[in-house]
Amino acid sequence: MVVMVLGFVENWQERAHAAISWAAGLIQQEASQTPTNILPGVTCGYRGLFYPSARHSVRMCSTGVDRKGILANRVAVVTGSTSGIGFSIARRLAQDGAHVVISSRKQQNVDRAMDELQREGLSVTGTVCHVEKAEDRERLVTKALEHCGAVDFLVCNAAVNPLVGSTLGTSEQIWDKILSVNLKSPALLLSQLLPYMEKRRGAVILVSSIAAYIPQVELGVYNISKTALLGLTRTLALELAPKDIRVNCLVPGIIKTDFSKVIHENEAFWNSFSEHYQLQRIGKPEDCAGIVSFLCSPDASYITGENIVVAGFSCRL
Ligand code: NAP
Repeated sequence: MVVMVLGFVENWQERAHAAISWAAGLIQQEASQTPTNILPGVTCGYRGLFYPSARHSVRMCSTGVDRKGILANRVAVVTGSTSGIGFSIARRLAQDGAHVVISSRKQQNVDRAMDELQREGLSVTGTVCHVEKAEDRERLVTKALEHCGAVDFLVCNAAVNPLVGSTLGTSEQIWDKILSVNLKSPALLLSQLLPYMEKRRGAVILVSSIAAYIPQVELGVYNISKTALLGLTRTLALELAPKDIRVNCLVPGIIKTDFSKVIHENEAFWNSFSEHYQLQRIGKPEDCAGIVSFLCSPDASYITGENIVVAGFSCRL
């Protein structure tokens, strides 16, 4: 029997002692049946509670696997990962043990993000990759293979959202731009990476948006591109099932980043939106990170073709 006590509680010392007394009681009850391997589990939980590393050392998942290092020896590629949601995802995957390859369009952003994460002791490399450009995608693939010649996870997070108004008022050029970056690039990058993802039992995460479920008039074609990603998720999940690669989709609500400034800084919009959906706060990029790590982990090994909304409310049945 292993007893775990999850961290981050108020009055943690009192509660930890109470939990340990309770655990000791259980041990006495179990002692006659299971004489071995009881104490180490308790001491480990105890140690986790009283040291600053408690946050990571006692994270457990439903199958009882210690989540610390759950992605160890795995390689993740995250597009658009130098700020906002992509950066948080990259950080979390690296904290959970993966080697992470970060990327975005601007070298200085890649350097800054890499520097920040490496200073946290995380295993990251990075390169410039504008997802729309074939040669940039090729460079990203090459960079990803540097670590161990294979890739386990691809998170397609980069997207554009030029505020263009209605769908029917959108020029062909803008249509092409949005569909190319948001929809086509994830599929093209995946096809370039696929030969190196086979036999790794990895995962792909596409990043859609609440706009797929609740379209905003001003976001015309962007809404459509994000709805199409839900379809892409399901199609790719079927296509890649025989290769044991799972494909799922993250659907963020309104998350405070530069990308969503025009929305969350629009007081009238935010007030009515938050009141309608009973939102108590705006989302943070970190709110989206844990679920991506989960979807990559063995705990999600029977989940594919799904989309998961992280919005502070539910937008579907
Ligand atoms: P963000 O804070 O603006 O970050 C965007 C990141 O992507 C930056 O690292 C940017 O760096 C990079 N990037 C932009 N265009 C790129 C391109 N063509 N190729 C490669 N990298 C590119 O945005 P975010 O809010 O985190 O959004 C991330 C994802 O979440 C997007 O798919 C978005 O649609 C989705 N989403 C966001 C919200 C929200 O409320 N924030 C809601 C729903 C969905 P560079 O400038 O260096 O390229």
